Amino acid sequence: MRLQFIGCGDALGSGGRSNTCFHVTGESVNFLIDCGASSLPAMKRLDVVRDGIDLILITHFHGDHFGGLPFLLLDAQFTRRTRPLVIAGPQGIETRLTQLMEVLFEHSSKTKPRFQLSVVALDPEQSRSFGAVKVTPFSVVHGESGGPFLAYRIEAEGRVISYSADTEWTDALIPAARGADLFIAEAYYYDRIVKNHLSLKTLEAHLPDINAKRLILTHMSDDMLGRLGTLAYATASDGMVVEL
Ligand SMILES: [Zn+2]
Ligand SMILES: [Zn+2]
Repeated sequence: MRLQFIGCGDALGSGGRSNTCFHVTGESVNFLIDCGASSLPAMKRLDVVRDGIDLILITHFHGDHFGGLPFLLLDAQFTRRTRPLVIAGPQGIETRLTQLMEVLFEHSSKTKPRFQLSVVALDPEQSRSFGAVKVTPFSVVHGESGGPFLAYRIEAEGRVISYSADTEWTDALIPAARGADLFIAEAYYYDRIVKNHLSLKTLEAHLPDINAKRLILTHMSDDMLGRLGTLAYATASDGMVVEL
């Protein structure tokens, strides 16, 4: 299995990075984790075959994680996609997706897709399987708008990938990422403590409890990007591929 960072940026385009979107492929799986506003052009730049994607997991309804869906769906329609697609995310996703599509492309939510599109709402700590992908969401803490907010523990092909999503520290990240083969964690600031986001120093204090086999930092602000090369941890970059 491999994971490619299509985009690992924040909502502000820090470092010129694309919004959050990770692409996981294996012998029996092909899915996205988040689909931020700039994901479609980023996928095209990386020659990602969109047609093979079976599942898109959305962590929350902020534009840098969710805003790319109308473009992707429009692209699927115009490229005559036939393969079924499942989009799964927090409660309310069906309404939020319809609203988003109507704002960006009027009447698009009423156009019947040529392919089977299923939109599925997930609940915290209730595992769901989509083909060979088992997903367990965990409720995380990221403010008042754009929620509910979910971190994901994803099991596929004998591996575990965990993603914190955007969140301030919450103990839910421990079961979400414990012993994971890959833990992708937000590290928005280095040591500044702010509401709704995670700083590296806070995360670092909890790493022994999480005990993931591999950690990659993502969603970094200019503060963190200015420290690249001096950090003790691996950091994501757009296009980077991780073998699992
Ligand atoms: Zn974000
Ligand atoms: Zn967010």
